[in-house]
Amino acid sequence: MLNAITVDVEEYFHAANIECVVPPRIWHAQPSRVEASTDRLLEVFATQSCRGTFFVLGCVARRHPALVRRIADAGHEIASHGYGHRLVTAQTRKAFARDIRKSKFLLEQVVGREVVGYRAPNFSIRDSVLWAYEELVAAGYRYDSSLHPVAHPRYGNTHRATEAALQQTPAGPLILIPLTVLRLQLGNREFRLPVAGGAYWRLFPRLWTLFALSRCATKGAPYLNTYLHPWEIDVGQPRFSELPIATQIRHYGGTASLEGTVAAVMQRFPSVPLSEIILSLERLGALHPQHTSAAVPT
Ligand SMILES: [Zn+2]
Repeated sequence: MLNAITVDVEEYFHAANIECVVPPRIWHAQPSRVEASTDRLLEVFATQSCRGTFFVLGCVARRHPALVRRIADAGHEIASHGYGHRLVTAQTRKAFARDIRKSKFLLEQVVGREVVGYRAPNFSIRDSVLWAYEELVAAGYRYDSSLHPVAHPRYGNTHRATEAALQQTPAGPLILIPLTVLRLQLGNREFRLPVAGGAYWRLFPRLWTLFALSRCATKGAPYLNTYLHPWEIDVGQPRFSELPIATQIRHYGGTASLEGTVAAVMQRFPSVPLSEIILSLERLGALHPQHTSAAVPT
């Protein structure tokens, strides 16, 4: 079973949960913590002899170019998380095109190699902004990993496909490689459980995560696509007690145990970069044209 553990490299204050207390206009004044926690994650990868894909935020790369080079030098894939961490749904098409070009250019300058993968902040390529796919191709990206097809108020896309596919756009094809979900059939209804990482790995027991990922594998998923953020292992990050209790649990819960879960997942399912999984799928002829409602309006 091929597994890609992916890391969205951003600061704790970029998280959507925190935005109401640390809005974007004061991000520049916040203490940076991303370097130490990302280095810690690099150690976990190295200890388990694993490699992954790091979707680096452009504004983080500008502030910490040496960190991005360390990630690349350790054998990981550098991909783009955009530049300014604005939801795609909150941007104009023109602003989005600028954002993805700016981050791609900057990351390529820093690591000296082509960047072909993209993940939107908060998986925010929803039906209202499917023009994003065409813009990604036009900007030189080959694949997108922004589709998390589970029920969620911010990024729910339960009607979308769960398999990797070729999305046709007027600018050319784009490979869509969704996050892993566990599909359960109960009678005539299908339920999709989020099992791919983040809070789902922090708040649920490790044994459940390992069991759920194993179920995905035995049910024929050709690969796993999983994710986390450096701030999710940062137990020393600032605490904002004014946040609603449910938000505090979602953001801070399980941060002390996530590192162990990541290591356990790596031991069960060794991680490789997403680009290598895509290469395998291409060799197997397993990337078919997208047949869902994801037609791209112009
Ligand atoms: Zn993000």
